[in-house]
Amino acid sequence: MLKSIAVMTSGGDSPGMNAAARAVVRTALYEGVTVWGINNGYHGLLEEDMFEMQSKDVGDIIQRGGTFLGTARCKRWTTPEGRMQGYKNLVDRGIQGLVVIGGDGSLRGAQLLSQETGIPIVGLPGTIDNDVWGSDYTIGCNTAANTIIDAINKLRDTASAHRRVVVLEVMGRNSGWLAMVSGISGGAEYILVPEEEFDLDAICAEMKESYEKGKRYILVVVAEGAGSGKEIGDQIAQKTGIDTRVSVLGHIQRGGSPSVIDRVKASQLGEQAALAIISGLSDIVFGFHRNNVVAINLHDAVTNKKVLNPEYIHLAKVLA
Ligand code: ADP
Repeated sequence: MLKSIAVMTSGGDSPGMNAAARAVVRTALYEGVTVWGINNGYHGLLEEDMFEMQSKDVGDIIQRGGTFLGTARCKRWTTPEGRMQGYKNLVDRGIQGLVVIGGDGSLRGAQLLSQETGIPIVGLPGTIDNDVWGSDYTIGCNTAANTIIDAINKLRDTASAHRRVVVLEVMGRNSGWLAMVSGISGGAEYILVPEEEFDLDAICAEMKESYEKGKRYILVVVAEGAGSGKEIGDQIAQKTGIDTRVSVLGHIQRGGSPSVIDRVKASQLGEQAALAIISGLSDIVFGFHRNNVVAINLHDAVTNKKVLNPEYIHLAKVLA
């Protein structure tokens, strides 16, 4: 049994990180274990920016987006020297294990720390991109998809009024998951994702034809990993001659009060992470598979690439 653990959030923030950190802290305290909060991810760990937490420190945060612990990107952490310093800063405070809530990169950094120093590490997938291998779900992906749907609904109103093509660029890094689920649920005609090649000439020809038959407007959702919304919009306008507008949703997708799903799932994951690390387990990422919490090998999670569900790709085509 570990007596003292720490928790941090790292990389891109996502709605629900607070719920996850809160669950880690309260579970640890419930188990009688000391828990430290590290501010600003690996950067804060290297700056020794950390504090021992009480239950009230995680009060009034479950409803908030972002992360109350702060997050950062930290170049020094990518060096073995940086990670060794981080390890020393943990050991100096008697911290015996670390829970890292973050995306792909953060989990990779955590895996290296564990490999190089042997300190127990448990990861939680915190990213709106839903791109962590082994899990159907990452903390924040549900809220982000809901934010995109809200934008799609509004864009539909104005696109319909003007008989336009609307191109919406959404986040997701190299993953098309966010574009795919929001495009399907927003009723997009075309969903362009990095996982599936597309022929813009053929799409434009099809668009022209349906427009001539009387279609009022066409909605295209583009995953940032599939190309620039602006460039794709420019090409559509040029090739079809149809009035085309581009919206890049940007950081709005990262923010906002987390959805019920993100709050509950993040809380479940946080509890499991705390219980696992306290019991001395290491090199695990907790995620979901078919709505059940599952433990994923940390090394596998960071070395394998998650595949976009082909059923989604098919469904998007059938329903367009
Ligand atoms: P995310 O966790 O959202 O994927 P990043 O990829 O920016 O975000 O990673 C966050 C931080 O994790 C980086 O600033 C760096 O400190 C650390 N990190 C990322 N990739 C690596 C890596 N390959 N090796 C060591 N540390 C890494």
